[in-house]
Amino acid sequence: MAYITGPDVVKYACTCGLLKPITHLYFCRYCTQIRCSFCVCHEIDSNFCGKCSENIPSSEARLKKNRCGNCYVCPSCQQDLSTRIASKGSANPEEAKSTPKKMYYLLCQFCRWSSRDVGIPDQSTVTGGWPKRENVHANRLQELVDSYKAIILASKKHQQDKEKKKRVKCLSYTDRTGVTAAAIRKRLGLPADMTHPMLKNRPKNPEPAKAKSEVEDLPDSIFTEPLNLAEIMSIEQRLLQPEQQPTTVDKLFPVHKQLSIKRSLRCRSCEHNVSKPEYNPNSVKFKIQLFAYYIIPEIRIVTVEPLRSGKTSELIVKFTNPTQHQTTITFFELDLDEVESVVTEEVAEVAESFEQSLYLQEKQQLSLPSLGSLSQPSSLLASRTPSITVKPRRIKEDLNCKIGIPESSFILLPRDDAAEYDDSGDSHNIQDDPKLVKWRKSNKAFIRLYVTPNEDLPLNSEVTCGFVMQHIYTNTITSKVENKEPQQYNHKVKVFLTLGNSVGCD
Ligand SMILES: [Zn+2]
Ligand SMILES: [Zn+2]
Ligand SMILES: [Zn+2]
Ligand SMILES: [Zn+2]
Repeated sequence: MAYITGPDVVKYACTCGLLKPITHLYFCRYCTQIRCSFCVCHEIDSNFCGKCSENIPSSEARLKKNRCGNCYVCPSCQQDLSTRIASKGSANPEEAKSTPKKMYYLLCQFCRWSSRDVGIPDQSTVTGGWPKRENVHANRLQELVDSYKAIILASKKHQQDKEKKKRVKCLSYTDRTGVTAAAIRKRLGLPADMTHPMLKNRPKNPEPAKAKSEVEDLPDSIFTEPLNLAEIMSIEQRLLQPEQQPTTVDKLFPVHKQLSIKRSLRCRSCEHNVSKPEYNPNSVKFKIQLFAYYIIPEIRIVTVEPLRSGKTSELIVKFTNPTQHQTTITFFELDLDEVESVVTEEVAEVAESFEQSLYLQEKQQLSLPSLGSLSQPSSLLASRTPSITVKPRRIKEDLNCKIGIPESSFILLPRDDAAEYDDSGDSHNIQDDPKLVKWRKSNKAFIRLYVTPNEDLPLNSEVTCGFVMQHIYTNTITSKVENKEPQQYNHKVKVFLTLGNSVGCD
């Protein structure tokens, strides 16, 4: 788990040029490219409450302002509030023998805030009926919302009328006689109603807000009495209740819990999902889960000798194969200037495929003239074409250390979960280059590399090096569908290592 929360000392370059740790990357199997969170579309699948695990449809969630109706969070520390039982004896002493009544109040287990602190009466049911506080500006807000809704409706209606007029091209009275509606109105003695239909249906504008010139004076006590910060709300606490924004802690009221979402991620280039969660809010599993650390070998720094400018040090890195297929790792020199040409080539390729799809679309429309006349099918097709919006950029990383690129490559065995518990020793018979491979076990290999920090590197500066790793990616999608041998590709990844700070000569 340390590599998920620890410092990012090993970074992989995304196709777009951003450097990220492998845990933050995805791998699109259809494009055979790395994708980061900027290279994917984020789509909301479902809204749910994290406390009661209730799935809430998006329309209802919008109506409830994205908050759960039954769960509350602490207004003081924003953690979930829990309901506590308190028994209460009857107020009438004659009925003292009767069973005490159960009452409920809200309590925060983290900061001990309770609904009794602010004088909210205990409730007789678990789910509560906790008093709702009226928003003093509710009427004004509703007025604004209504008037904007009316404006949208009017403009929609106007648009529809316009389209109807365009579509129904039958001859009107004016077309046949050349007499305009206004002229007829005049002859009949009616007032010439020339207002635009849009203006006629226009809803009344809401009353504009007015600035007051007279404001209440501050109380005198604010200048004389010392401030007790324990009684004043923090900014977070105030902003949790935006409609009231009280200033003192005695006005802290429980807040409805904000809903959480489940989202799926879609590759921007090919529109296939790289991540899709299961619908059930209780499930933490995924339907589709193409994380890069399931496909690309993981690299970790094991040891590095003290780094001195101009001196060669030994670096041991561990490679782990996460896949069920054997792979071969080959090293290449990293050239950051080369990136630009690769990028332009890629853009040209994408543009070509885009043009091709457009051509196909035209062809389809020509062959189906009845469909071509309707606008809908073409717009549907257009939404399926590649939509590259993230422009790959040049990798911004200062490399101040040379790395000796090994000439030989090495094999990483497939992952075998049972091998983790096998102490009998490895039975592999791989002829390794002893200069390169220091040690190996199941799907892991410890590799010896040599790094030389630059001559002019000042003391105590961070040393960064990089290389290109080529691994074999085995594509199993086509093999499953067509019952063929899985296809294999050579996939190259740019890897950057932060080795630590340089030290002096001794
Ligand atoms: Zn990216
Ligand atoms: Zn809830
Ligand atoms: Zn609390
Ligand atoms: Zn893709």
